[in-house]
Amino acid sequence: MSISPRRLVTGEKHEDDAETSLRPLMLADFTGQEAARSNLKVFIEAAKARREALDHVLLWGPPGLGKTTLAQIVARELGVNFRSTSGPVIAKAGDLAAQLTGLEERDVLFIDEIHRLNPAIEEILYPAMEDFQLDLMIGEGPGARSVKIDLAKFTLVGATTRAGLLTTPLRDRFGIPIRLEFYTVEELERIVRRGARVLAVTVSDDGANEIARRARGTPRIAGRLLRRVRDFAAVDKEPKITRSVADKALRLLDVDTIGLDQMDRRYLDTVAISFGGGPVGIETIAAALSEPRDAIEDIIEPYLIQQGFLKRTPRGRVLMPLAFRHLGLKEPDLESR
Ligand code: ADP
Repeated sequence: MSISPRRLVTGEKHEDDAETSLRPLMLADFTGQEAARSNLKVFIEAAKARREALDHVLLWGPPGLGKTTLAQIVARELGVNFRSTSGPVIAKAGDLAAQLTGLEERDVLFIDEIHRLNPAIEEILYPAMEDFQLDLMIGEGPGARSVKIDLAKFTLVGATTRAGLLTTPLRDRFGIPIRLEFYTVEELERIVRRGARVLAVTVSDDGANEIARRARGTPRIAGRLLRRVRDFAAVDKEPKITRSVADKALRLLDVDTIGLDQMDRRYLDTVAISFGGGPVGIETIAAALSEPRDAIEDIIEPYLIQQGFLKRTPRGRVLMPLAFRHLGLKEPDLESR
C-alpha cells in the first residue's frame, strides 16, 4: 500500500533510526489510549503472576497510532523475547513454521498487517494459537504425511488497520482485542514534548501545541513534524521551537492549520467539486485520485471521518458541511445530493 512518496502525513511506516529513538519502552511511558493501557496492564500482571503466556492480542487502528510500539512494550513488560514479522512477508508455510518453532515459552510473536496473510498460511495459525501445535504436511501426493509439532506457549500479537479485514475464525482466536483511537491534542502535546527531550531540542508550550494540533491525531506524524520543524529551526538559527517557528515550517511543508496535507485536500476537493459532495463510491474516488482504494480507506478517510468532514453511507461517501467550510466552498443543497 503506498501513497505518493512525497507525502509527509502518510502515517505509513518508514521506520528509521529517528523514529525508533522516539519509541516509548514501557507502558508507563506510553501516552494516551487509557482503555488499552489499563486493560493490558491488568492482563499482563495476571499472566505474569500465573507464569503463563498472555492471551493473544489483536491491535487495530489506523497506521502510526502505536500498534508496533505497544506490541514491543507487551514483550518488555512480560520480560520475554519479541519476534516480529508481517503478513505479506510470510510467503510460505515454512516461513511461519520457522518463526513459530523458534519461539520460547511465553515469547511474543508480532505479526503486522495480519489481514494480509495468505489464507493457506492463516490455517496453520489456528491450531498454533489454540493448541500450540503445528500441523504440517510433509511431501506431496500419496507419499504425503502430516506431522504434529508441539510449540512453546507463546503470545501472538496481531496488528491490522481494520478489524473488519480479518476473517472471522482468525479474529475469534484473539482473547484480547484492542482498538486504538486517534490521540487528543493534549496527548500529542505530551508526545511532542517527550520527543523534543529525546531529540534534545527546546520547544515552547505553544510550539508543542501547534505541532500537536497539526499531527492528524497520530503520534508518528507528530514525531515526523517535530523533526522537520527542528530542521527548519536549525537552518533559521532559531534556538527554540515556538508557535510561529512551527507554523512557518508547517506552512512550508504544506500542512494546513488543522493538519491536512495536499493529499487530504485533493481528496476533499475531488469529492466536493467533481462529485458535488457525494454520495460517491470509493472505487470512483480511487480512480479519480489514481490512488489504491485500501490506502485511501486506511490512511486518508479515518481521520476525515473522525473530524466530522466525511461520512460513509450505504450510497457512498458524503462530504459534511464542516468540510465545505474548511475548503471555503459553498455547500450544495442537501436536496440536490
Ligand atoms: P503502528 O504500528 O500503529 O503503525 P507505531 O507503533 O510504529 O505505529 O508508532 C509510530 C511511532 O509513533 C513510533 O515510533 C513512536 O515513536 C510513536 N508513538 C506511537 N504511539 C505513541 C505513544 N502512545 N506515545 C509516544 N509515542 C508514540
